[in-house]
Amino acid sequence: MTETRKLRIAIIGAGASGIMALIKLREAGIGDVTIYEKADMLGGTWRDNRYPGVTCDVPSHGYRYSFEPNAEWSRVCAPGAEILDYLKYVARKHDVEAAIRYGHEVVRADYRDGKWQIETSKGPQGAFDAVITATGVLHHPSYPDIPGLEDFAGEAFHTSRWKDDVDLKGKRIGVIGTGSTATQITGAVVDEAASYTLFQRTAQWIAPLPQGPIPEEQKALFRARPELMQSEYERISHENNSKFAAAIVGANPRAYEKLVEVCRDYLETVRDPLLRAKLTPDYSVGCKRLILSENFYEAIQKPNAELVTERIERFEAGGIRTADGRLHELDVIVLATGFNTHQLMRPMEVTGRNGKTLNETWEKGNEGYLAVTVPGFPNWFMIGGPNSPIGNFSWLLTAENQFNFALKLILRLRDGNISEIAPKPEAAKAFNEAVRAKLPDTVWATGCKSWYIDKFGNIASWPWTFEKFQEDMSEPVWDDFEVA
Ligand code: NAP
Repeated sequence: MTETRKLRIAIIGAGASGIMALIKLREAGIGDVTIYEKADMLGGTWRDNRYPGVTCDVPSHGYRYSFEPNAEWSRVCAPGAEILDYLKYVARKHDVEAAIRYGHEVVRADYRDGKWQIETSKGPQGAFDAVITATGVLHHPSYPDIPGLEDFAGEAFHTSRWKDDVDLKGKRIGVIGTGSTATQITGAVVDEAASYTLFQRTAQWIAPLPQGPIPEEQKALFRARPELMQSEYERISHENNSKFAAAIVGANPRAYEKLVEVCRDYLETVRDPLLRAKLTPDYSVGCKRLILSENFYEAIQKPNAELVTERIERFEAGGIRTADGRLHELDVIVLATGFNTHQLMRPMEVTGRNGKTLNETWEKGNEGYLAVTVPGFPNWFMIGGPNSPIGNFSWLLTAENQFNFALKLILRLRDGNISEIAPKPEAAKAFNEAVRAKLPDTVWATGCKSWYIDKFGNIASWPWTFEKFQEDMSEPVWDDFEVA
């Protein structure tokens, strides 16, 4: 006879994914859920990244939960602070805060006797039937391996550890890096800086981003006719998924050609041929995550801005010394040097069945099954696990798809007379072999260094179309799972 069990579930992380997971678990009738959050506020990446110019590069009406439309977005692409407010609003509306334990960093998770024993920085938290990790992908700051930072006499900080008390006005500002973060900062601060120096190691492809305020009439229309707002959500998701995502994985060559053309045309707007040459990448469009910007080329051409391509040798008290011997004198150094993408939920110590740790399991690269589960780690569900679709499209849509898949497994735990569920090792092996076989078709494998690929050559992202991802997430292949 089938019995319904009362499950106790832990979610790790109160960012966009953790908030969504809690809401959906409650909707499914699972109420004994705790979110452990190491910070003292929810919001994840939108809490941590508050550098000047921080903006989502997915259009606002496509970057929201499927179940929480928002007619009030102020701009075509929302500023980070507005997305954080949206997450807070959704959390308030669904009474999420009551389930969050702030200041609790999960340090250990041990699978013993069919339960996950969770320990946080504040001590043991007891046993849970299942764990959902919602710890983000771009989370652990990566600091450059350049000597002398401690010698610098001015202010220096990573973009995700922004120092709000540092006034940039009239300062000599140096920014290291040319990723999405650095390009957004460039447009936002160049005008107030006495001088602005951008240190570029690798040039980036940039596509122009349509930006600007959303008119009041459109907001009123969306308030009055939510079905139009829904169509806009679907249109944006479709554009991103069937054109952009498909182009990157080699499934839509025409869309890819168009993308290349748009980037080349945008680069042509740089007037000085020498500067244009410095800004021209020597690899394929999309190999590194494409940058979308409304104003980067314009900003870097301002008279007080300089693009430096000489290798950085070291930091000194007065600024940054480059390999040509020049000292770039600076008051503030911003490290826009990205994140350790492959660390995922670690340094948390996770020990699965038979005492094997996640660190041991992922010694030669992160591998799971369909990005959500890992063999040997029963009842452990990842939002943002290895090979999740990560790129220029809505993370919220990816997270919801992954959660819906995990929920089907969790409901089996609740209603299916079983106490544990994990992917079969052979199913995971087949999945990872398929990932490796597909990688060469993607633009990520065309020869560039990017955070998509780890030091072993494993791809962090999903190498197929987003449609295939949605299909795979729609229903588990039950034969690929072992239960107890
Ligand atoms: P990133 O894309 O990883 O860029 C890091 C930059 O720092 C690169 O230009 C890198 O150069 C440079 N760098 C690293 N170490 C260096 C060193 N030792 N010397 C000189 N340069 C060095 O990081 P990010 O810009 O923070 O963006 C990370 C991701 O966050 C993005 O790809 C995106 O997914 C997300 N993001 C999204 C938005 C959005 O609008 N939605 C905004 C910001 C960020 P190399 O290229 O040579 O390695």
